Amino acid sequence: MSALSAFDINRERMVEEQLIPRGISDPATLAAMRTVPRHLFVEDAMQVRAYGDHPLPIGSGQTISQPYIVALMTQALHLEGHERVLEIGTGSGYQAAVLSRLCERVYTIERIDALLRQARKVFDRLRYYNIVSRIDDGTIGWPDQAPFDGIVVTAAGPKIPEPLLDQLADGGRMVIPVGGQDGQNLQLVEKQGDGITVRTIELVRFVNLIGIHGWQR
Ligand code: SAH
Repeated sequence: MSALSAFDINRERMVEEQLIPRGISDPATLAAMRTVPRHLFVEDAMQVRAYGDHPLPIGSGQTISQPYIVALMTQALHLEGHERVLEIGTGSGYQAAVLSRLCERVYTIERIDALLRQARKVFDRLRYYNIVSRIDDGTIGWPDQAPFDGIVVTAAGPKIPEPLLDQLADGGRMVIPVGGQDGQNLQLVEKQGDGITVRTIELVRFVNLIGIHGWQR
């Protein structure tokens, strides 16, 4: 049996103090949040703050989301293990890593090369081999691999990108922040046949989604 590190203790505390009291109750989501070593997704100097109740800078002007937001977005997908999930905005790779513990395969797209290169190193180190990633404008989705059972967008634009709606499977769920640059509604989109339902599950503040179907800059 190996001894618990301070990181392990802080990760457990994160679950007990930040996630459960705010209504994260899906056992699989909680298990993934207890498992994935969040501190490996931030710079060494930032590791002591990795389990705090806030986002953190990851370079290139971008951030790793607050743990609660990662858990909320993950839980909203209702994953059972067999799904193929698309993520837009790999960033540090942490959200993709959490999703990868709960579904069959994660497809993640990032527009900044330096971030994706770093995230891939962490995926390899952790042997999270069911994550595939590419550099592109994620607002056009990943048409070759569509449809997706779940889509998670971790940057915010003025509207839901049309290609992502098209690439959502029948019965699929998408979580996406939508709104202005100072704050957004985190929307849960469900597709059933030709019908789309959209409801707001939280008020959030994400970095900009930059692309053809997002902000221009
Ligand atoms: N999921 C990330 C959050 C990173 S912040 C994590 O767990 O750390 C959002 C990321 O979205 C940034 O890295 C930003 O570069 C990226 N992004 C913004 N617009 C994008 C686009 N059109 N396509 C792909 N990535 C985009």
